[in-house]
Amino acid sequence: MSADALADLLADARAGVAFTGAGISTESGIPDFRSPDGLWAREDPRDFSFRRYVASPALREQAWRRRHALWQAPPRPNLGHRALADLEADGHLAGIVTQNVDGLHQDAGSRTVIELHGSTRRVVCIGNAPRAGTPQGCGFAASHTWALARVEAGEADPRCPRCDGIVKTTTVSFGQNLWPGVLEEATALLERADLVLVVGSSLSVEPAASLPRRAQRTGVPLAVVNDEPTPLDDVADVSVRARAGGVLADVAAAVPLRRQASA
Ligand code: NAD
Repeated sequence: MSADALADLLADARAGVAFTGAGISTESGIPDFRSPDGLWAREDPRDFSFRRYVASPALREQAWRRRHALWQAPPRPNLGHRALADLEADGHLAGIVTQNVDGLHQDAGSRTVIELHGSTRRVVCIGNAPRAGTPQGCGFAASHTWALARVEAGEADPRCPRCDGIVKTTTVSFGQNLWPGVLEEATALLERADLVLVVGSSLSVEPAASLPRRAQRTGVPLAVVNDEPTPLDDVADVSVRARAGGVLADVAAAVPLRRQASA
C-alpha cells in the first residue's frame, strides 16, 4: 500500500498518535537493535541489562565512554522526525509515544513526546545496590551534561554527589522496570487517538509493542511504516514498507494539499 493512502488517513486525523521505534532514528546515524547492521550484530545484549550495570563498574565505565563519544557529535533529527513534528503542528497528531531514548523528536520540535524507555538526556541516582530492576536512588537527578562534565573531569564512573550512589541515564535497561506512570500516560494518549501510526519498530519489545495493537483492537485505524515486515502488517489499514524519512516527508507535504482539496 502506498504513501498516498497514508496521507489520506493523516489528513482525516485530528488526534493521531505516532508510535516510534529505533528505526526512525537510523537515518540520523543511530543504529537500531535488530537490523542486520544493528547493535545486536556487534554487541552482547546481556551487557545492556540493569543487573550487570549495577554489578559491574567496568561496564558502567564503558557505558559512560560510549555516551561521551556520542555526545561529542550529537545526532540530529532527520526528515522523519521533522515530518512528525510538522504533523503535530498542523493538528493531525496529538503526540508521540516513543521507545527511543535519543531525544530527537523533541529536537525536531515535537511537543508531546512520551518516552517509554527513558532518555539519554537525563541522569538519576539509582542507589548503591538496587535490586530486582528497580532504581532505589536518593532523588538526585540532572541533565546528561552534568555527567558529561564529570566524565571529562576524569571520573570514569560518576557517582551521586548526594549519597555516592550509582548514577545512570534514565534509559530503561533489560530487566529494569519502566518508570512509574509512563505506561499509564501513553495509554491515556492512545485512548484518545483517532489514528495510530507505527514508525520504525519491530514491535517486539513488551509491554511497549502491545500499545498499538490494543488501540487497533478498539477500532482505531492503524498505519505502519517500516522497512521490513512487522507483526501488525496484516491488521493495519495501511502498511508502507520503506525507509521512514522520505515517506514521512512526502506524506507531511501532501496532507495540507489534501485538506485544501477537500475544503
Ligand atoms: P528494533 O531495532 O527492534 O526495530 C527497528 C525496526 O525499524 C526494524 O524492524 C528495522 O527494520 C526498522 N528500520 C530500521 N531503519 C529504518 C528506516 N530508516 N525506516 C523504516 N524502518 C526502519 O527497535 P524497536 O522496535 O524500537 O525496539 C527495540 C528497543 O530499541 C526499544 O526499546 C528502544 O528503546 C531501543 N533503541 C532505541 C534507540 C534510539 O533511541 N534511537 C536505538 C536503538 C535501540
